[in-house]
Amino acid sequence: MVLETAGEPLQPAELPDPVPGPDDVLLRVRACGICRTDLHLRDGELSPGHLPLVLGHQIVGEVLAPDAAGLHEAGTRVGVPWLGWTCGECRYCRSGRENLCERARFTGRDIDGGYAELTVADARFCLPLPPERDYPDLQVAPLLCGGLIGYRALQMAGEASRLGLYGFGASAHLVCQVAIHQDCKVYAFTRPRDEAGQAFARELGAVWAGGSDETPPQPLDAAIVFAPAGALVPAALRALAPGGTVICAGIHMSDIPSFPYADLWRERSIRSVANLTREDGTAFLALAPQVPVRTTVTTYELARAEQALADLRAGAFEGAAVLTAI
Ligand SMILES: [Zn+2]
Ligand SMILES: [Zn+2]
Repeated sequence: MVLETAGEPLQPAELPDPVPGPDDVLLRVRACGICRTDLHLRDGELSPGHLPLVLGHQIVGEVLAPDAAGLHEAGTRVGVPWLGWTCGECRYCRSGRENLCERARFTGRDIDGGYAELTVADARFCLPLPPERDYPDLQVAPLLCGGLIGYRALQMAGEASRLGLYGFGASAHLVCQVAIHQDCKVYAFTRPRDEAGQAFARELGAVWAGGSDETPPQPLDAAIVFAPAGALVPAALRALAPGGTVICAGIHMSDIPSFPYADLWRERSIRSVANLTREDGTAFLALAPQVPVRTTVTTYELARAEQALADLRAGAFEGAAVLTAI
């Protein structure tokens, strides 16, 4: 399924089989999770690296042809995340911050991704997955971006004992479980009057769930904003206790409205989370089975990728959407 023009529906296309380079594995795509970033690219809110483009960066793949160094053998199941390649040389790569690499290439934006039957990926950036008996393909796919970017955002929350999650979608439903496992109380904020979403959050253990226009019953130590709505940032800031942090976890957001300095005063802060490091990926995928993180999944056949994106835009399902192999 190919994005030919931003703002236009994805189109089915028959492409030549991808040819792996020496560092790449050739993969059969067994499942591919859908991320809001895919929707931003589809809708033209983010620039694609090239067009036509194959979206998709939560790929569960089976190695058909190994890389030259033999990092992953034929038949192995691996995960391909958003971070597709880094230079290894810039000041960010050399200081453990490859997520900020100046020349980074991203799966499903700069490199054709997983809305396909076959793909190639640099073997050094493929992640080992937990055992298939614990995490079948459809259940593990949403961990590969929603899970691990959420995990990176949760680490930015530090020792928070009261955590707000603004936008209770694919990522928040996973982070909620990890936070509770770490003895943190979760406060879930959905679109106003989204009672199904609030009930879903309570089922997953949130101590409170309400609309994003509501004030939580206690001030929060940290809040992660997953929804792409800039107006939520000052709202989350007002929900914080002194010293608290608002963490913006999305790649794109509408403009943040101005707010009085008093809302930031007393050592409150606002920060963003960008991309992931391979270390985040391996740490989270090792932690997930211990929690254990359970994914709520709605599946779509590959040919229905455009419908899946439309449903994500409309907030039509709880949890995560995953494309199945043909
Ligand atoms: Zn670099
Ligand atoms: Zn993503």
